[in-house]
Amino acid sequence: MLLLLVLCCLKIGATTKSQTQLLRIGGLFHDTDDEQAFHIAAKMVNRKYPTGPFRLVPESFLVSKHNAFTSYSRTCSFLHKGTVAIFGPSSIHSSSYIQTLLDRKEIPHVETHWDRKLLRHNCLLNLHPHPSILTQAFLDVVHTWNWKNVVLIYDSEESLARMSPFVSSFRRWVTLRRIDLDHFGTYRSSLTSIKMTGATNFIIECSIEVLEEVLKQAQQVGMMTERHNYMITNLDLQTIDLAAFQFSGTNITGFRVVNPEDEFVVGVAEKIYGKSYNGMPPGWRLRLKTALIVDAVDLFYETVLDLTVSEQVVIKGYPLKCNGTTNWRSGHTIVNYMKGKSILGLTGIVHFDVEGFRRDFVLDVLELTTGGLVKAGSWFPNAGITVTRTPPPVIQTEDNSLTNKTFTVITCLTTPYGMLKETTSRLEGNDRFEGFGIDLIDELSKMLGFNYTIIIQEDGYNGNYNFTTNEWNGLIGAIVTGKAELAIADLTVTAERESAVDFTLQFMNLGISILYKKPKPVPPSLFMFVSPFSYTVWILLLVTYFVVSLCFFVMGRLCPSEWTNPYPCIDEPEYLINQFSIRNSLWFTIGSLMQQGTEIAPIGISTRTAAGVWWFFTLIMVSSYTANLAAFLTVETFVTPFSNVKELSEQTEIKYGAKRGGATANFFKNSGNDSVRTKIWSFMATHDNQMTESNDEGVERTKNEHYAFFMESTTIEYVVERQCSLASVGQPLDDKGYAIAMKKNSSYRNDLSAAILKLQETGRISRLKEKWWKEKRGASNCGAQGEESAATPLNLQNVGGVFLVLFLGTVLGFIISVVELGIRVYSKTKGVGCFKTEFKKEMRFFVQFKRNVKDVLRRGSQEGQ
Ligand code: GLU
Repeated sequence: MLLLLVLCCLKIGATTKSQTQLLRIGGLFHDTDDEQAFHIAAKMVNRKYPTGPFRLVPESFLVSKHNAFTSYSRTCSFLHKGTVAIFGPSSIHSSSYIQTLLDRKEIPHVETHWDRKLLRHNCLLNLHPHPSILTQAFLDVVHTWNWKNVVLIYDSEESLARMSPFVSSFRRWVTLRRIDLDHFGTYRSSLTSIKMTGATNFIIECSIEVLEEVLKQAQQVGMMTERHNYMITNLDLQTIDLAAFQFSGTNITGFRVVNPEDEFVVGVAEKIYGKSYNGMPPGWRLRLKTALIVDAVDLFYETVLDLTVSEQVVIKGYPLKCNGTTNWRSGHTIVNYMKGKSILGLTGIVHFDVEGFRRDFVLDVLELTTGGLVKAGSWFPNAGITVTRTPPPVIQTEDNSLTNKTFTVITCLTTPYGMLKETTSRLEGNDRFEGFGIDLIDELSKMLGFNYTIIIQEDGYNGNYNFTTNEWNGLIGAIVTGKAELAIADLTVTAERESAVDFTLQFMNLGISILYKKPKPVPPSLFMFVSPFSYTVWILLLVTYFVVSLCFFVMGRLCPSEWTNPYPCIDEPEYLINQFSIRNSLWFTIGSLMQQGTEIAPIGISTRTAAGVWWFFTLIMVSSYTANLAAFLTVETFVTPFSNVKELSEQTEIKYGAKRGGATANFFKNSGNDSVRTKIWSFMATHDNQMTESNDEGVERTKNEHYAFFMESTTIEYVVERQCSLASVGQPLDDKGYAIAMKKNSSYRNDLSAAILKLQETGRISRLKEKWWKEKRGASNCGAQGEESAATPLNLQNVGGVFLVLFLGTVLGFIISVVELGIRVYSKTKGVGCFKTEFKKEMRFFVQFKRNVKDVLRRGSQEGQ
């Protein structure tokens, strides 16, 4: 009886097995989590339908993101085994590479990654939420949070591409800032410069691998305070550790598609990561792309099941060759059915619109609180955002507003930023001062409605930290101690100062340059006439003269027409003479080179051709010489003892320095590994007498001594406009700016920055600069005389062409002279003698260069000899 039962069970088992169809599915992944998720997903669906007509047989490969070729060859091996669907890879490049093949072979291709250029491919289905809808979600949040300006921080071109629809929609209000690794391998430099803009609303779009580090470094540079608001667009925000920012008071908003607390999600995540993981709960580790793989496999199985059971379609894989012509027949049907099917997966309802894109999904809007990341609301594609918890808005209390407040503004008497008015009448209060900085603060006060009282920093220092007393001096010291609320001058923004005070947006950009005396003109030389040609051209000209003269001599001997009757009154002369002797040839060529001419006139076609070309050559050379000589006589050539900072550091004759304790001196002091800057600083540090108390002192020393002064480019601009004997040498060494300083965490910084931005945009700041640099206080236009173009000798490149023409013309002359001789000999020997013998005789005579008298060649003269 028992045996019968066992046999019966075996039979049922065998029957079921024989009816179960095996469907191979292939996966290409870049990391093991995704690969693991793929296998677990297949196992889950197989378990869900133990008696179903199919069993999925998953097979996968780990492939490199950057090697599309491997993905292609792996796909071929899948197809060869009869695989009926391919999942992945998530690299856009590799995925599109295999797409063409899969379209051709009609094999369903399921993607789960973000793809900006998502197109309807024949056999492609992408489960990732559609980028255009995500953009809508980001815009809705920005509008709900009432952000007027945002800085978009991104880490790669791909990140920027993801956000480009957002940027185009929010164009007027978004500033783009890319963060790159500095030479310490951190993002701190990029983040510090973003911080200096004074912006407080940020959107971060970077890969999840670096996001945590970016946030940590933002915190380190002071960009994670109550004043700062962040929106993080990466849908995996929940998968990183945000504990460090929970108590910072920063408003951090994020999004997610996967609910990490959902039981189903937790169950799957436990299968992928295991329960034993003792850090983050498994559900919180599950990344969107991994969850999408699970949903993709599920969707595929459900579709195939539907097709087989309800539509009675037979689904069966068979081997395909990549380079063969056969394709699978069921691919299109499956993909189309998948697009029409909906399932409830880890990422919510998986559903596609008529175009086959996933536009219908719900996003959880997250907020970071002291208790961690919590759901603050939801976003629906058609209904927009419904916020259940609103992050604390930045409250504009009465106290934060600048209106009707009175500030003490401190400045230094540094030309032209802050100066005493030049007047004979007695002035009081703010009226005593004028300058660029004074005008700027006045403009700001009018815009924002505050009052101000100007006080002066008597020692003229802008701010230097004393490591012994741990105190700041100058303007920064005045702000730190509360002597003044705002400081405006030629106050450079530096990282060191930024740690003690807050700066507004920079109102002026500049770099360090060298102020030195204007280059002196070279005294005129006695041999100035040689200058128009380079030495090479002179030597070549001389050689050409001799060679061409020799050619005339040779050509003259060859050319029969040049042998003429010495006594024109005798009809039949005994002998002939040739005008192109060596002496005459030299004289003929020099005569034309000097534009004088000679009584010698070429007769033969060959000599005339050569003479024509020679005259052309002399015409061009003489004209070039004359034109360039004129340039040399009129343009002064200047000499500078150094033309950049390196050359200055290498010489010892000219001393140099900078303003003591200023940002320029500190730039050299903190020069790190730069050898030139270190050398400059070691000179400055050991020659304290070369450092100055003020810019004015530096300018005076530059004028009167053998001295170069390192100064900021904008101030140099001002000086050279007025001191015509001075000029800026070389390129700026760095790139920085001036800004208004105030106490750390001042509530009015944003308003001041926004007002500065407005003044910049309306051109008001440029106008003020124009006024103080070009119009007021003895501005002249010596800057305009600045650069004069120097005359340079003509070299072979300039005149090489004419030498070539001369060469070709002379060669042509030679050929013609030989032809002329041949014709003459032929005409004299025709019918009465032998051409060859006579020609040889002529040639023999030709090489006897000493003989300059020639017998007359008569018709049939051979016979007579
Ligand atoms: N602008 C500089 C500062 O803020 C002063 C001038 C200089 O160092 O060249 O310290």
